[in-house]
Amino acid sequence: MAEKNDLMDKIVSLCKRRGFVFPGSEIYGGMANSWDYGPLGVELKNNIKQAWWSRFVKQRDDMVGIDAALIMNPKVWQASGHLQNFSDPLVECKKCHMRYRQDKLPEKCEGCGGKEFSEAKMFNLMFQTYIGPAQEQANVAYFRPETAQAMFVDFKNVLDTSRKQLPFGIAQQGKAFRNEITPGNFIFRTREFEQMEIEYFIKPPQNDEDWNNVFEMWRGEMKAWMTEVLGLKWEHVHELEVPKDELAHYSKRTIDFEYHFPFGVSELYGLAYRTDFDLKNHMESSKQDIRYTDPQSGEKFIPHCIEPTWGVDRSVLAVLCEAYDDSNPENIILHLPAKLAPYTVAVFPLLKNKEQLVGKAREVYKDLQKHFNVAWDDRGNVGKRYYSQDEIGTPFCVTVDFDTVEKDDCVTVRNRDTKEQPRIKISELADYIKKSLQ
Ligand SMILES: [Zn+2]
Repeated sequence: MAEKNDLMDKIVSLCKRRGFVFPGSEIYGGMANSWDYGPLGVELKNNIKQAWWSRFVKQRDDMVGIDAALIMNPKVWQASGHLQNFSDPLVECKKCHMRYRQDKLPEKCEGCGGKEFSEAKMFNLMFQTYIGPAQEQANVAYFRPETAQAMFVDFKNVLDTSRKQLPFGIAQQGKAFRNEITPGNFIFRTREFEQMEIEYFIKPPQNDEDWNNVFEMWRGEMKAWMTEVLGLKWEHVHELEVPKDELAHYSKRTIDFEYHFPFGVSELYGLAYRTDFDLKNHMESSKQDIRYTDPQSGEKFIPHCIEPTWGVDRSVLAVLCEAYDDSNPENIILHLPAKLAPYTVAVFPLLKNKEQLVGKAREVYKDLQKHFNVAWDDRGNVGKRYYSQDEIGTPFCVTVDFDTVEKDDCVTVRNRDTKEQPRIKISELADYIKKSLQ
């Protein structure tokens, strides 16, 4: 990880230059704090999401997934408290009407230099829209500000169809929307973002140990995810135990996992014990019996819930910050974990005007595509192609040369990090690369 102040600028520039992340709507002058994932960014992001789904849903017996609607019945947000409480205090410049969060108010207005501001007003962060053609209050709806509520709202349906017994969790990945007053820091804080969340349900605890054991289990899982999957150095992560007097009224314990981003230590993930707050509210509000029935005792109760939550875009950003290496400015390298890299392998013919080399290289390329995301490059010389692949984090480069076609049916496999270049039989190539992904 480069320790320079302009690291963020360099990462933003690389993201644009190589097609990871573009400014949104750029041909129209862009739109403040909106970003689009380009061809490489979408691969990196999808690899992160798939690794998460595989690890926390597919490979666990105590988890199931859902994919709920973005726009839910507005009563959901009444029951969850978002309609009443999901607000920031907002002040307005009296001269040019630019708005600021009260806690982030500059001395002088950044728009006009004015010094007079209005009284603070509460501003709800939910994006409002209308269902159907008539724009009237009865048709008001909201884009979800978090994915979590769907796991509570769908709890009974999941229970009835999956036959899961406590403890078990419901997972979801998807977009959420918050009308942030002060977004910023590239893809760190945007108004439209993606979450990966789990609501993990347990029996009502008899004592603190009952829930804390599960809390600690998830704390360990989140740490393992950051270090083993994302490749973050643990010394770049800070666990903030939220002080008791700052906890949400329904939470008994919350840990914020913060990452040492170039712009400062900022929240990456969260883990909270939410008691039975959400299910209880939805049961009261919907007047439906969504209780769990214990299969042994027949007893009915509302489960409690531990909530680990991950930001997708923040994961992408942390991975990029961790992986970025410009210690040799001529050869920028993204040391991405092999499993997450947009391309696992790139294939080159040594020379692009030798038909026998190009033909063989195309064969190798096509074959590897059955297993991996593969890049093709025949421009310039091999050294330049290596640099180009290093910059987007491709862990392996395969070169087909004259020995390949005339002698040994082997290719040179160049390793991004070790720079080793063993010759590997084409018939063993896919397995050789697969091993590195485990
Ligand atoms: Zn102003």
